[in-house]
Formats: sequence, structure tokens, C-alpha cells
Amino acid sequence: GGLPDHLQETIERRNEVLGPGYMLMYREPVEFVSGRGAHLFDRDGNDYLDAYNNVPCVGHAHPYVVEAVSCQMAAVNTNTRYVQEPLVDYAERLLETFPEELSKVSLACSGSEANDLAMRVARFHTGAEGVIVTRWAYHGITREVSSFSPTLGKGSPLGPNVRLIDPPDPRLVAPGSTLAEHMRDQVRGAIDDLERHGYRLAALVTDCAYSSDGIFTDPVGYMAGVLEEVRAAGGVYIADEVQSGFARLGDTMWGFSRHGVVPDIVTMGKPMGNGLPLSGVVFRPEVCDDFGQNVRYFNTFAGSSIPVAAGAAVLDVFEEENVQQRVLVNGKALRAGLEEITQASPYVSEVRGSGLYVGIEIVRDRETLDPDRARAEDIINDLRDRRVLISGTGKGANVLKVRPPLAFSSADVTRFLETFAEVAKVRL
Ligand code: PMP
Repeated sequence: GGLPDHLQETIERRNEVLGPGYMLMYREPVEFVSGRGAHLFDRDGNDYLDAYNNVPCVGHAHPYVVEAVSCQMAAVNTNTRYVQEPLVDYAERLLETFPEELSKVSLACSGSEANDLAMRVARFHTGAEGVIVTRWAYHGITREVSSFSPTLGKGSPLGPNVRLIDPPDPRLVAPGSTLAEHMRDQVRGAIDDLERHGYRLAALVTDCAYSSDGIFTDPVGYMAGVLEEVRAAGGVYIADEVQSGFARLGDTMWGFSRHGVVPDIVTMGKPMGNGLPLSGVVFRPEVCDDFGQNVRYFNTFAGSSIPVAAGAAVLDVFEEENVQQRVLVNGKALRAGLEEITQASPYVSEVRGSGLYVGIEIVRDRETLDPDRARAEDIINDLRDRRVLISGTGKGANVLKVRPPLAFSSADVTRFLETFAEVAKVRL
């Protein structure tokens, strides 16, 4: 234990100058000076296994992405008011990964901006204001988006036009009912309540991995009925793929596809530029055309040459390295290993997830599912002390969140499981 002097000093200087809201992870915070694949290195060259960061999706400092971005930077950066062939190429390529109904894309710089634009478009198109999200959702930081992000604390209240529904946790379903019925009932109830208060439905927004709700990726298939309710009420469905997109869930490029539905609007961000600020909103044209004809939307950095070069390079690597297949195979091995290690523990109620997104729920009691936040925090910090990085999520902050770069290799899976088993021996 004990932080190195330079780290302690930097933290003190940080506390002096940074504005509100900055938090550090881990009891012993970390600083890294380089990275490669799913590995991060501190000043002393210690190798940490990154099982947390989703932004560097094809790997930290991926040489191909570095080269593509450097070349573009050395050439020029222009915005979308000039013709840019690479932007058009990128838009076409990205849209090829979507069902044909989703045929328009706008670029932005963050997931929050993407959700902000999506909601503006949804409101404009429907002429309505009502919003439905899941109970512990997080969708971003703008005033509009934070008004439908229920996890931001007492100082950040929900809008009066916002209603909450349960995340798709099969354990919340009453005996004799199904998850599909439960979700449909929840949405119907929220729509009714909005209408009683004078709001028609603009949009249902869901994170397709339900990350901050505690990671609920399966079972799939309940969305079809939910969307019938949303559309019957005149609303649209916004799929937030900021977490679940770009093959994170392994079996498909986009989380919504696993449910066999086609949203009206899809937002994406984080991994899109492997670290460059690049996000996007994909639309059905009939949903966004009227907004485009009536509202001027220009976003200076969005769609400019450098982030687009990063985005295109990411898609190249996806093809070249068959990233989705790797996610599928290594994700299965990771989950299987974790299930084996935790199955006998009285403190683990569930290992869940899909692809390289795994949640391990830590409880006081497997029957009551009473969350054990303290034990989860101990595990997260024990892993950090053994140079493996994860985090926690869920309403009780008791779900271990394992969400590595998609560059996570089979050797990384092995190292992760070996280290996790050591910690489990003590804590689980
Ligand atoms: N949606 C989801 C599901 C997210 O997890 C996040 C970020 N954690 C956002 C939106 C906001 O993205 P950003 O931080 O890039 O604004």
C-alpha cells in the first residue's frame, strides 16, 4: 500500500484546480502513461489488465488507428460545411451495419449530444414531450438528457414529463407472467400516467445493455410488444447503443438487433472513435426529415475530418481482426470461467451478460438478493491491487461490471480468471 509521492502530489494539485464533479476510482487511484491492447502501464512499467474501459474498443493506442488519425491530422481537419468524401464514405459504411429502414446518420461528439439530438428530433416529430426510461438509467449530461437520467442525485431532478419503468430483470416478473408481458405492462402504465398528467409520449429510451440498471442483456425478444405500445401511443423508440453498440454484446453489431426489432432512432458513442470524440445518431428518414427542414443543426467538431478518420479506422480494424467473433468466443469463455468460480459462493446471485459485457451480482443473501455493496467494493479494490481493473454498477452498486476493451484476448481471459479466483477465495 501507500501511494507513490508523485501520484499523491498530482491528486492534491488536482483537488486544487478541477471544478465540481470529478471523482477518482479505487481506494488507491491509478495513473497510466501508455497502453496496448487491453493493457495499461504505469510510470514504473507495471502491466495492468484493463477489464473496464469500453472506449478503446479495438485496443489502447491501436497502431492502425494511430496511423490513420496521425495522417489525417498531418493533412487537414475541415468541418461538414465543406464537401468531405471520407465523411460520406464513413456514413455509408456505418449505415450498412443497420437494417435498411435506418438510413440517415448525423454525427456528434459525445453520447450525451447524440441523445440530446435524438430527443429533440423525437419531440419535434411527435409534437409530444413524454419520456419513458428505466429506473436506474443513465443517458448523459446535458440539461435535457439529465432530466431523463434518474441516477444523477438529488440535485438533478427528473423532468415532470419523465416516467420510470423496471429494467428487464426476469426476477421482477410475477409468477405466471412473462418478461414480455411485464415490460409491456410497465410501458402501458407509464403512458397512461403521462396522459393523466397531460403529456403524450414522445419517446421510450433504453440502453440496450441496461448498464447502470445492473446489466440485463438476456433473455431477449420482449421488445416487440413494448414497441407496439410505444407506437400505438404515437411515440418513437430511441435505442441508446452508447454501451451496447459496436459488437460489445458479441452476437450482433447492435444490441437492439438481438431483440429482432428496428428502432426509430439509434444513438452511439464511446467506442466509435477508439478515444477520439465521435458519436452518432441514426434515424428512420421519416422521423428526422421534418426536424431537418425546420431546425438548423451545426455541430463544429462533429463529423470533422480527424474523428471521422478514427471512426473509419475502427471499422477497418473490426473487419481486419474479425472483432465481433473474438468478442463472442472470449466473452463465452469469460462468463463460463466466472460462473465456475462463483457458483458455490453464497454471495453471488448471478453471473449475467453477453459478449464482453459481464455483470456479477454480489448479495448478502441469495434468496432476498439484498445488495452487498461493501463486498463488491472490496472485490473491485482487491482486483485493482492485483492490477486488474473493473468497476461496479446497478442500483445498489453491487454488480461487478466487467467490460474490457474488445481487444481482450484469450490470454487476457485467462489472466482475468486466475486473478479473480484469487480474490474470490478471500471474498466469496
Ligand atoms: N448513454 C449511455 C448508455 C452511457 O453509458 C453514457 C456514458 N456513460 C452516455 C449515454 C453518455 O455518453 P457521454 O459520456 O459520451 O456523453
